Amino acid sequence: MTTMESLIGLVNRIQRACTVLGDYGGADGNSFSSLWEALPTVAVVGGQSSGKSSVLESIVGRDFLPRGSGIVTRRPLVLQLHKMESGAQEYAEFLHMPRRKFTDFALVRQEIQDETDRVTGKSKQISPIPIHLSIYSSNVVNLTLIDLPGLTKVAVEGQPENIVQEIEAMVRSYVEKPNSIILAISPANQDIATSDAIKLAREVDPTGERTFGVLTKLDLMDKGTNALDVLEGRSYRLQHPWVGIVNRSQADINKNIDMIIARRKEREYFATSPDYGHLANKMGSEYLAKLLSQHLESVIRARIPSITSLINRSIEELESEMDHLGRPIAVDAGAQLYTILELCRAFERIFKEHLDGGRGDRIYHVFDNQLPSALRKLPFDRHLSLQNVRKIVSEADGYQPHLIAPEQGYRRLIEGSLGYFKGPAEASVDAVNFVLKELVRKSIAETQELKRFPTFQAELAAAANEALERFREEGRKTTLRLVDMESSYLTVDFFRRLPQEAEKEKTGSPAPSNVDRYAEGHFRRIASNVSSYIGLVADTLRNTIPKAVVYCQVRQAKQSLLNHFYTQIGKKESKQLSEMLDEDPALMERRQQCAKRLELYKAARDEIDSVSWVR
Ligand code: GDP
Ligand code: MG
Repeated sequence: MTTMESLIGLVNRIQRACTVLGDYGGADGNSFSSLWEALPTVAVVGGQSSGKSSVLESIVGRDFLPRGSGIVTRRPLVLQLHKMESGAQEYAEFLHMPRRKFTDFALVRQEIQDETDRVTGKSKQISPIPIHLSIYSSNVVNLTLIDLPGLTKVAVEGQPENIVQEIEAMVRSYVEKPNSIILAISPANQDIATSDAIKLAREVDPTGERTFGVLTKLDLMDKGTNALDVLEGRSYRLQHPWVGIVNRSQADINKNIDMIIARRKEREYFATSPDYGHLANKMGSEYLAKLLSQHLESVIRARIPSITSLINRSIEELESEMDHLGRPIAVDAGAQLYTILELCRAFERIFKEHLDGGRGDRIYHVFDNQLPSALRKLPFDRHLSLQNVRKIVSEADGYQPHLIAPEQGYRRLIEGSLGYFKGPAEASVDAVNFVLKELVRKSIAETQELKRFPTFQAELAAAANEALERFREEGRKTTLRLVDMESSYLTVDFFRRLPQEAEKEKTGSPAPSNVDRYAEGHFRRIASNVSSYIGLVADTLRNTIPKAVVYCQVRQAKQSLLNHFYTQIGKKESKQLSEMLDEDPALMERRQQCAKRLELYKAARDEIDSVSWVR
């Protein structure tokens, strides 16, 4: 193989890989489709029955395409020819049935028909979804060819009205791309001025640098006429020379005249033709194949620098994507454990950053605002209303106006009041727990490394939340205990000191002449005593509840959020570990794709490196 042959082969392989990876000419803007677009393809364009499929076949040197009159090609056929060493078994392969190797080309034709029908139905409808076929043979040149439905002028019975425009749009979408080399097929038995192929080619390639004019059916021209004006470039000038072709007629096809004979007959036709004899070595399908291949060489050569840089850029992108996706993990328990610990550490790092940084402020907001305001709002006014105090004291101690400090009444009032503190205490615990849970959720979401392992991510989240629940329970117990502690301080001494303090606070009470008046002042004093005690307790709790919460919840979260989880993991077997590290299938798929591409690009880079400097 020559250098250029192998380079075209390389391009072909890259295109094939693009196809397999589903990246051919897609509009998704990824680098793969841009690579596809950097590589040349040959699209066959022409009116219906102008001989497009026949030309393709003779370039390939094999019968495999459905041919005939009427609309036969109804879906684009992307045909990749791969040259093999001589003597190798020839075969064809469809992208839609990758495991099947076709060696019988009659079956290839059948499959093209069947696959067309599968998408379009057995109607005369068309579809822009291409069929991908690869042919491996020692008789082909490396080429990617695209067979397209023929351009028509009117919709025939059974076709939708807009089919003419639809076909044109489809064909145009292939030939307007600058990487497309246009094989414009016109039948010689029609005036070139009416050629659909030339009309479209001129629109998308006005300078004619990527258009090859092919004239078919030279044998069908009226006696006494010839196509020399076209073939010699006088009728319509193109940058590349026109090539005349004689394909098999329908009668030849019906008689199963094979390709070898057809090619020989074509050669003979030109060699013996009185009109074209002088052009014989520049006519025919074999010459066309050579011409195309030469042109491809020069196009590829010119594009090597940009292809190389595209490949290098893609390799960089893919490498960084691979880093992002994470490298594959080993299967032994040690490596798995290591991976798990790394993941936990990555999460903990982010969690702590948040806790120490701005997010931690939300916890202090609980202490600085929520708790004090909740304490302020406790309904002590109602609880210590004259009416309620009277009721409770009377119930506890009976009506004993002589008793200055009714101990039972005080106790009940104070204990009743203290009960109200439980609400804000628990609310603080819950609020901080909520903040911590949010932090866990946020930190998990921000730990890139975890994205790969949805199962593990869920387990980590569960473990962290479980730990936070335990801390919450501790926090709850501790803060409630703080509240309880305030009521256990009600010693005898406390009550002994009360009257004096009450006396001191007395503010112009009414004279004790009237029993009711006296009683009212008495209860008022009790209320105010209890209220000031409760005020002191509130001040204390405002300071001690945050301490308890930080001690039980925040500090623990920072120091030992995952401790329990670590012990559990330490006990797991390799099988359980690998279950935990079960990867997101989509991600695994993505990594595999990425790896495949990377491999392909690297191979391509190596090949280009080794080929392009040799002449
Ligand atoms: P397509 O619709 O453009 O793909 O055209 P086909 O390749 O299917 O050919 C249409 C018909 O024209 C078939 O019956 C072919 O046998 C016939 N045909 C194509 N090229 C030639 C040619 O050079 N000479 C003769 N005699 N018939 C041809
Ligand atoms: Mg066709």
